[in-house]
Amino acid sequence: MSERDDRALPLQVLDALHEGVVVVDARRAVVLMNPRAEALLGRRWSPGASLADLFPEPASQAALEAVIAAGRATSQAFCHKLGEVVLEVGVSPFTGGGSGMGAVILLSDITEAWKAEQERLRFVSMVAHELKSPLSAILNYLNVILTGMFDGDPAKVREMLERCKIRGEALLDLVRDLLYINRREAGPVGREPEDLDLCAVLGEQVAFFAVQTERRGIAVKVRCETPRAMVRADRADLDRVFMNLLSNAIKYNRDGGTIEVRIADTAGGWTVAISDTGLGMSDAEREGLFREFYRVKNERTAGIPGTGLGLVTVKRVLSDYGAKIAVASRPGKGSTFTVTFPKAPQGPDPG
Ligand code: ADP
Repeated sequence: MSERDDRALPLQVLDALHEGVVVVDARRAVVLMNPRAEALLGRRWSPGASLADLFPEPASQAALEAVIAAGRATSQAFCHKLGEVVLEVGVSPFTGGGSGMGAVILLSDITEAWKAEQERLRFVSMVAHELKSPLSAILNYLNVILTGMFDGDPAKVREMLERCKIRGEALLDLVRDLLYINRREAGPVGREPEDLDLCAVLGEQVAFFAVQTERRGIAVKVRCETPRAMVRADRADLDRVFMNLLSNAIKYNRDGGTIEVRIADTAGGWTVAISDTGLGMSDAEREGLFREFYRVKNERTAGIPGTGLGLVTVKRVLSDYGAKIAVASRPGKGSTFTVTFPKAPQGPDPG
């Protein structure tokens, strides 16, 4: 390699870096910015630009100054004020190019990782909240029983123990749903895709719920409007999706109502529409339907058990297959949940 090439190489490397690089001298004047730093900070280098121009937030400036003053390398993250971008900022002391201590600042875009972490923290806090209320209720009942104030009233004690049992079962359902979601997030381990006919799958699912539907006098019709509706999927995944939708169509239905399951070949793909004649939802109530722990709360839904994790799971499973879910609903009339599977590509996304 020639001497000329040797000198040009560091600059070419700086230009090619995926990280932003900013160099400031002892006076905090910016002496170098690579193109990535310009893009991340949303401004171009100009003569006389200072560290404070690039990081106008006092907290950011203080953090950078502390590092430069201490003369030790460090790394810390803070939100870049000019936009939604979150940068991890690594600062190394720099003594070249003049007297005194300057700094080499390395910028990495960690926006996606930061968002994922925020989401994880939000989820953990919601889980803790959801676990707390049934557990508190159980402990309250047990504490009342243990005071002995109802020792002479076994019927009352029994009633409280039954309530404990209901809350305990709800807690177990919640933990099961959480474990399932967690297992899914960990990856596609254990999935066994096979060619499945949606008409057959839905027929079996409906049969599975026969005892429940009969008990509530709900008539279920399955209309298969296409000779074959084949999807390549893991059977447990399809069961999870349709069990959730069918169990909701029963839970939120009225006694003596109906459920219609329609499997059809449409322009968008294979569709499965599950319609019920139950409580229905207003537009506002439908808004949060696919958010964790969301449950419509009104006098009609009070007392209907659930975790608020069913539809979240349904949506996540479907997204692995490139399938979509849509909801139409009218308060007091009923709801239709429509799932559409693309005819190709088939099989779960390996990611
Ligand atoms: P849950 O365990 O509460 O049933 P889901 O995630 O399955 O949780 O549903 C979220 C909420 O959406 C339910 O609590 C209910 O308020 C509403 N919902 C779901 N399906 C229906 C339906 N078929 N009819 C009316 N409301 C429904």
